[in-house]
Amino acid sequence: MTEREVMQYDVVIVGAGPAGLAGAIRLKQLKPDTNICVLEKASSVGAHSLSGAVLEPAALEKLLPNWRGEYTGMKVPAAEDDVRLMTKTGSFKLPGWAIRLSPMHNHGNFIVSLGDLVSYLAGKAEAAGCDVFPGFAAAAPLFDENGAVVEQQGREFELRLNEARYRTALKRGFNYTNDFVVKKPGAYQFRAVIRDAETGRLGSTGQFIRVPDLGKNRLALSGLILAGSDAANQPTNNAEESDDVQPTPYVRRFSRNGEIEYGAVVYNPTPDAKTGKPQMTVQMEFYRDGKAIHQLEARQIDPGSGVNPKRLECRGRLKLTDFPPGDYVLRMVVTDQLAKQRYSRAEQWMDFSVR
Ligand SMILES: Cc1cc2nc3c(=O)[nH]c(=O)nc-3n(C[C@H](O)[C@H](O)[C@H](O)COP(=O)(O)OP(=O)(O)OC[C@H]3O[C@@H](n4cnc5c(N)ncnc54)[C@H](O)[C@@H]3O)c2cc1C
Repeated sequence: MTEREVMQYDVVIVGAGPAGLAGAIRLKQLKPDTNICVLEKASSVGAHSLSGAVLEPAALEKLLPNWRGEYTGMKVPAAEDDVRLMTKTGSFKLPGWAIRLSPMHNHGNFIVSLGDLVSYLAGKAEAAGCDVFPGFAAAAPLFDENGAVVEQQGREFELRLNEARYRTALKRGFNYTNDFVVKKPGAYQFRAVIRDAETGRLGSTGQFIRVPDLGKNRLALSGLILAGSDAANQPTNNAEESDDVQPTPYVRRFSRNGEIEYGAVVYNPTPDAKTGKPQMTVQMEFYRDGKAIHQLEARQIDPGSGVNPKRLECRGRLKLTDFPPGDYVLRMVVTDQLAKQRYSRAEQWMDFSVR
């Protein structure tokens, strides 16, 4: 894991548009002790707020009653409404009374530049004690089990590939790895969103992860890793060989003609009082469409002669011949026969597909 600077906030607001900034200011007014940060992906606040706008100022009056005096940007009162109905050959003007009854009535409103206005709001948010960070795209949020965002990172990077690797990446994609420091054990949902700066297209992915609490000295399992273990399921380095996505532990899309290896680390097994050896069993179960479809016989985990009695590797292999193409979930259940019943079971799961 890499060291990185970490800043703690009570509330992180993504996007320094009018809504994000007004929300930050209002929250500070209501709860001055809240630590708030606003992330904006544009290089400066307002750079993505390009529209000129007619501003109905009621909400702004309420939020910042002195805005008319303080805001030095363009604010031209809307003096006249000219709303026209278009016909095939021309147009005719709606009468004043009809406009006054419609939402297009702008008397009392202001013509502003939205870019200017959000810069003003950002200044007010900062003056109230919020941190506003332009140039940060929120890209990798981490949610806790209740769905609240607990941490996020955003970064821009440029891929530099030689001709051959570029062609491979276009055909089969590429793996991007990133360290993410999780400070507390628990269940999380990890989501990553990638934006192609060239086309603006977005791609996203997510995974539920459970980070075990090792400090309590109770049985726990690391994440479950799946990888191809024979030639049919090995990633190939030759771009011309196959257009298919690679059967890596990241992608987990395996050939039915091949075999996979699964594995996890078992933490804190209970040692036998006499021999010092743990007694553990592992059971593998397979699910498809939410239903259990296959189970391997439970087997003892070989304690081996590892140097660390608190850390045991548990692995196995499986031929995929009996698995028709489709999406599956693999569940590993480990039972510690010497632990107190309450803490004797740990489980992890991982999805994969067969092609
Ligand atoms: C052409 C046009 C004309 C309009 N005219 C009017 C008008 O006359 N009057 C009026 O009242 N309204 C008008 N609107 C609507 C008004 O602009 C929007 O209602 C308003 O901007 C919405 O504010 P917002 O804060 O919700 O979102 P936005 O203004 O869209 O702000 C969102 C911000 O979040 C940032 N962001 C997005 N994703 C991320 C990320 N992952 N990480 C970090 N930052 C991120 C964006 O860069 C952006 O700055 C107009 C809109 C358009 C497009």
